[in-house]
Amino acid sequence: MIINKQMHDMNILNDASVLLGCSTSKELYQKLRALIERHDTVRVKTGINLVAAEGPMSSQARRLLSCDLGSRASGGSIGRNNRFFTGLDQADEIEALCIVLLKELFECNHADPRLLGGLHANTVVYAVLKNHFKVSDMSTLNTFYGGNSSNHNLGPPGILNYSISELPVDPNTLEIDLNAFEYMAKFRQPKLVSLGAGLNLFPFPVKEIKDIISRWGGMLLFDGSHQAGLIAGGVYPNPLSLGADIYTASTGKTFSGPQGGMICWNSEKFSSPVSTTIFPKLTGSHQLNRIAALTLSCLELKEYGHEYMAQGILNARQLASNLQAHGLDVLCSDEGFTETHQVVVKWTQEEGARLACYRLADVGVFANAVPLPEDRELLSGIRFGVTEITRLGVTQSQIVVLAEVVAGVLQGNYNLKEARNVVVELASTFSDFKYCLEGGQ
Ligand SMILES: *Cc1c(COP(=O)(O)O)cnc(C)c1O
Repeated sequence: MIINKQMHDMNILNDASVLLGCSTSKELYQKLRALIERHDTVRVKTGINLVAAEGPMSSQARRLLSCDLGSRASGGSIGRNNRFFTGLDQADEIEALCIVLLKELFECNHADPRLLGGLHANTVVYAVLKNHFKVSDMSTLNTFYGGNSSNHNLGPPGILNYSISELPVDPNTLEIDLNAFEYMAKFRQPKLVSLGAGLNLFPFPVKEIKDIISRWGGMLLFDGSHQAGLIAGGVYPNPLSLGADIYTASTGKTFSGPQGGMICWNSEKFSSPVSTTIFPKLTGSHQLNRIAALTLSCLELKEYGHEYMAQGILNARQLASNLQAHGLDVLCSDEGFTETHQVVVKWTQEEGARLACYRLADVGVFANAVPLPEDRELLSGIRFGVTEITRLGVTQSQIVVLAEVVAGVLQGNYNLKEARNVVVELASTFSDFKYCLEGGQ
């Protein structure tokens, strides 16, 4: 599988070597600034971002990332007795605020944001379950059926030597086959089921699975990296209320905060193991500037999360039906396409979905290729997310234009230069940032 073989592209590294060899540090600094500016032009000023794994931070939250806290060492947990370093009294108050906000948003008893990402959060949880609860076997989703490698043998469970079986999934609807699972699980009795997917159009049957595995005391980890904003906004079922034991997530996807991770749980039995596995076992400093920005992102979601995320689902459905109207094969049309921020198009042309996505990128529309059940070498899923354009206040008529360009570029019947012009024009109309505590920009 592709991610198994990935290595840095040596040509790009060699070019950087050559550049270093013939430039002064001052010139390299100019180059660095120019690259950042160019990126900004490509992705923000003249681009439309439909990468489902991204969510836009407000400019206010973004500014907090450059505060002094970013240079401070933070090792430990909240309180003078628990930090390695002095001078962190205000940081303690900020981090405490962040935690109580997360607990409110996710309606849970405990939350910890000292994680650098969803994968790091999963690493901590798999280590906790193995070291403190003697869990070493699990059932999880295959990465060709929406699963994420951070819950499979390519990721932390592999490093920690978990014995892994796969959840049975219907290849057409991508829904977990509960009957088949119940039958299989009776024999294996997995101590853990992980529900974490990069491709998620509909909620998972959390309660049904927990009911089955409860018979032998099985635990359920819900990795809601993609759905965190939706859950916080109350438009996606809260996995902890449905019986999940632990919930992990990214904070930079639909949650629309800084890149980072979090862990939420209810039972006190996890509290000390999670905290001590985070520090000192698997984290040193945990980026206090990120915590400050995350705190503001939590406040934004507390205030506007429901409106923001509900609008996102409506936008996703509209994009899906418009893409279908242009002849694209959009997944799950019989079920209303999606109940999340995602839309997935099945692209079976010989070029594969990766090349198709790069064609879109060349006109300024950013999406990514994902594996679908029958894929082998080439991927055939094109995944779109609407979180960013939703925050930018995209209108129905803008989605109509966007779908026309996307479908036209994919199908090869839209002049690429013209498509580029339409995308630049469309991007230039997105100037207002919604769902912010101060006026957006
Ligand atoms: C994105 C994702 C991750 C990894 O999250 P990062 O914040 O990028 O580390 C883990 N699990 C799932 C299901 C994901 O979608």
